[in-house]
Amino acid sequence: MKKIVMKFGGTSVATGENVRHVANIVSNTAKNGYGLVVVVSALEGVTDELFEAASQAQKAKQDYIQKFKQSILDRHVSVIRKAIKAKQINREIRKTIEGIIDELEKVLTGISYVGELTPKSRDYVLSFGERLSAPIVCGAIRDLKLQSQWFTGKDAGIVTDSNFGQADPLMNFTTHQLKERIEPLLGKHVIPVVSGYIAATQEGIVTTLGRGGSDYTATILAAALSVDEVWIWTDVDGLMTADPKTIPEARMLPELSYQEAAEMAIFGAKAMHPRALEPIIREKIPARIRNVFNPENPGTLISSDQTPKKTDAVKAVALIRDVAMINVGGAGMVGAPGSYARVLDVLSRSGVNVMMISAAVSEANISLVVRRNLLGRALSALEIAVLGKGLVSEVTSEDDVCVVAAMGAKMKGTLGVASRVFTAVANKGINIRMIAQGSSELNISFVVKEEDCVAVVRAIHEEFKLGKN
Ligand code: ADP
Ligand code: ASP
Ligand code: MG
Repeated sequence: MKKIVMKFGGTSVATGENVRHVANIVSNTAKNGYGLVVVVSALEGVTDELFEAASQAQKAKQDYIQKFKQSILDRHVSVIRKAIKAKQINREIRKTIEGIIDELEKVLTGISYVGELTPKSRDYVLSFGERLSAPIVCGAIRDLKLQSQWFTGKDAGIVTDSNFGQADPLMNFTTHQLKERIEPLLGKHVIPVVSGYIAATQEGIVTTLGRGGSDYTATILAAALSVDEVWIWTDVDGLMTADPKTIPEARMLPELSYQEAAEMAIFGAKAMHPRALEPIIREKIPARIRNVFNPENPGTLISSDQTPKKTDAVKAVALIRDVAMINVGGAGMVGAPGSYARVLDVLSRSGVNVMMISAAVSEANISLVVRRNLLGRALSALEIAVLGKGLVSEVTSEDDVCVVAAMGAKMKGTLGVASRVFTAVANKGINIRMIAQGSSELNISFVVKEEDCVAVVRAIHEEFKLGKN
């Protein structure tokens, strides 16, 4: 029996009709003789709402908690109504959902009393999105007369470190537990539905794997159960030459190597979590990105064996919004050993991840790119620890910028790619604020003003003829 892990993202389970559609895809695949494990995300937008609810609760807004409770209940009940026809299953799942939402209310009320939101308690709140969607999808599958059982990531056996908000699996222990708890169901034709994104520490405290982490859950399961393929179902045909929401003429990429797909994921192709490929690269398990709304399309195949194709050096262009650039300068940095390390150390200690870095030969200036929501924290850390202490005399920032990255494995060793990229941008009269090229030579990334970003992506897309003809 061929074994597949299937993951359905938030858009795939946004409404009751969509959940039914997902259950049909599961049922058709199971009837074709596949052994299936299903992973689901929270209903579209619910994780964002939970994030907001946790912050509001901290400000002790009791009215808000009551209103939020009602709206999240209404949303899930309306999905259940459309997704599950059989009265008895419908009633059972509704009761389950009500119980989980009562628990959520207690958690939010607890946060409001204490007036404190820690990374740990935030993860607990965020876990409710997937805890609510998994039973519903499980019920919809049962409604189609298949056997199914749902699990939280924790109950399934996914154990992580305690890096709340961005936890990593302890793979040996996790594999052992998943084999014990999930694998036997496949032989009994019971379809496990596992809530994505969430897991627990060894002590049983709930953790999350980082935003978009359901993809990671899917590949953790795939590696642990040594399945034949992972299918990531989403709302576009596969990984594309650019985000189709920005560049409508973007084309689907039928095949990619793990390395290329990882590069795309890291550089903002939202279609996949940046770390999701790690577990399956080790086990050489192929992944497919497929469109729930167009299941006939085979999607993008990501695997290690690639047939070399006559493609141009640049295969795709990504756009990362929500970033900010920090410039750190000072004559004191020139020739001072460890000055860059000092700046990076200060940022890392305050929990700010540096996404891009570029330094001038003069050594008097470095530019850094960070997530925009961390800009305030980064600036205050630099101001307290390094500004005016002999090393750094100036810290400035720009928060109306974005990063554009051109990528492709064939860029390595191909001459003239950078000049084509930059000429295409210059021909549009657009100024580049900062440039970085990793020594992997798999991408060239640079910073432009946000107002120019779409024009820049389009210019590169056209220069390398990536679009549909
Ligand atoms: P899901 O809810 O299924 O996890 P996401 O919103 O996380 O879906 O990811 C899918 C979205 O990623 C698509 O709707 C698309 O707009 C966006 N995206 C960005 N860059 C790319 C790309 N290069 N190829 C495909 N999709 C992309
Ligand atoms: N629901 C989570 C998020 O919105 C995880 C996921 O969708 O993969 O980030
Ligand atoms: Mg996603």
